[in-house]
Amino acid sequence: MELLKERILRDGVIKPGNVLKVDSFLNHQMDIDLINQIGQEFKRLFADAPITKILTIEASGIGIACLTAQYFNVPVVFAKKSQSINLDGDVYCTKVESFTHKRIYDVILSKKFLTADDYVLIIDDFLANGCALMGLIDIVQHAGATIEGAGIVIEKGFQCGGKAIRKTGVRLESLAIIESMTDDSLTFA
Ligand code: 5GP
Repeated sequence: MELLKERILRDGVIKPGNVLKVDSFLNHQMDIDLINQIGQEFKRLFADAPITKILTIEASGIGIACLTAQYFNVPVVFAKKSQSINLDGDVYCTKVESFTHKRIYDVILSKKFLTADDYVLIIDDFLANGCALMGLIDIVQHAGATIEGAGIVIEKGFQCGGKAIRKTGVRLESLAIIESMTDDSLTFA
């Protein structure tokens, strides 16, 4: 998606530790026109899939998932990062290691919002080592729902997540894949 790549080059800021900050347009301040176009692109890519629900993880995925969901006319459900070990039996629970915060979270989703009848599109802002996406896939599998695919806005292709997810057979569509990133420049695949 050229518009997205241009925006990353113009406004993305590379931070130490292989972190790309895109908080002026994607995950802090949000450019709604751009994210609408991202949603339309996901719709174009998954037009053939019988999606009934969009699944994401808080917090950065939520806005992107919501604008995308308008084009599929389906609900969004987001997995919550839980601090609590007081979980009742009505939730799916998995563990996710945060790439940006370097800690492990319990991630939960209420069982009533994802069932075996659902066809799920997973949406997230970044794919790095794949922990967040693997956690979401785990939840969908526990629900017995069908994974139609995953839509990622920015894949850091030099990290291992993309390869690991593609190996599982899950259909993965990334709108911008960064091939390499140094302290002051990046290139796309
Ligand atoms: P993974 O679980 O694939 O290692 O990392 C994906 C998650 O970490 C995403 O949900 C995203 O919020 C965060 N993340 C990973 N890499 C970056 C990055 O370079 N920049 C930002 N802003 N978030 C990232």
